[in-house]
Amino acid sequence: MRILVTGGAGFLGSHLCDKLLSDGHEVVCLDNLFTGSKANILHLLTNPKFEWMRHDVVDPFKCEVDQIYNLACPASPVHYQYNAIKTVKTSVMGAINCLGLAKRIGARIFQASTSEVYGDPDVHPQVEDYRGNVNPIGLRACYDEGKRCAETLFFDYHRQNNVDIRVIRIFNTYGPRMMVQDGRVVSNFIVQALKNNPITIYGDGQQTRSFCYVSDLIEGFVRMMSQEETVGPVNLGNPHEFTMLELAEQVVDLTNSKSEIVHEPLPQDDPQQRRPDISKAKEFLKWEPTVQLREGLQKTIEYFATQI
Ligand code: NAD
Ligand code: UDP
Repeated sequence: MRILVTGGAGFLGSHLCDKLLSDGHEVVCLDNLFTGSKANILHLLTNPKFEWMRHDVVDPFKCEVDQIYNLACPASPVHYQYNAIKTVKTSVMGAINCLGLAKRIGARIFQASTSEVYGDPDVHPQVEDYRGNVNPIGLRACYDEGKRCAETLFFDYHRQNNVDIRVIRIFNTYGPRMMVQDGRVVSNFIVQALKNNPITIYGDGQQTRSFCYVSDLIEGFVRMMSQEETVGPVNLGNPHEFTMLELAEQVVDLTNSKSEIVHEPLPQDDPQQRRPDISKAKEFLKWEPTVQLREGLQKTIEYFATQI
């Protein structure tokens, strides 16, 4: 197949391009390089089955493909809050442009949604039926509400125009090719530890996240796209939950770092807890993560050691 990946030069998108090419497909990568990088796809540029387009998903585009994976959107709170209005436009207008294209050419289309649609959840672990606790006017709303509206559009195009959709909700995923200055917790802690700089824990460090290694997640993407049982939404993530303090301790230990832990103010609306219920992924995709946190951190540390 010929497959379009928007956000294909980003962290997840570039791993997805690798996977699709290794499965024998042709890939068209569309990215405006806001948080992505040519370095992530440099090794693909000489592959005749790979094409790349510098383009913004907010502006309409045409492309003849069999499938579309829509990943274009900054994912780190630092970067999605940098230009909040643009983040909303990217999620909402990007979804409209991709869905319009899918409708015209009859392509199956995948949306990279997020656990952020649950906001600061009061149901734990999070099941897909839970409708969430999002502050619609807070600093994270540009991302959370943008992604919620994108889900709405996906389901309306499905109901109204029969567009063949697949929607997954990604929980915190990490691995090689995150940017050194990405700002998310795993890359921050690893870079700080490797430089023996203070490890910045926001708040008391008792808030939790569940970290999925990138190769596990990408396998889940492809399984979601190649099954007929459900259009989603399906949670994809690792159900092992850690406090940020525990994460910091593991990173310090694995890097033999001299870094000390320092506490900084907790950002507004920072979710207190997050863990996916992955029953649906197990049932419909026969999927569950295989890489444990220590092993994934080790591989990610090796990558960042080459970057700083
Ligand atoms: P990333 O920032 O590395 O990748 C996003 C990519 O989208 C970048 O290459 C960026 O340049 C591109 N992009 C941004 N705005 C664009 C625009 N207007 N037009 C074209 N391209 C644009 O982040 P990531 O972690 O790889 O996330 C990829 C997708 O997965 C995002 O949609 C994100 O919301 C979703 N997601 C990721 C996680 C995670 O933990 N990594 C969790 C939940 C959801
Ligand atoms: N965090 C932290 N130190 C950092 C970066 C993040 O303690 O240097 C915390 C952040 O407050 C949140 C968690 O780590 O509670 C995960 O943050 P991240 O930005 O990775 O993603 P989120 O899940 O909040 O979107």
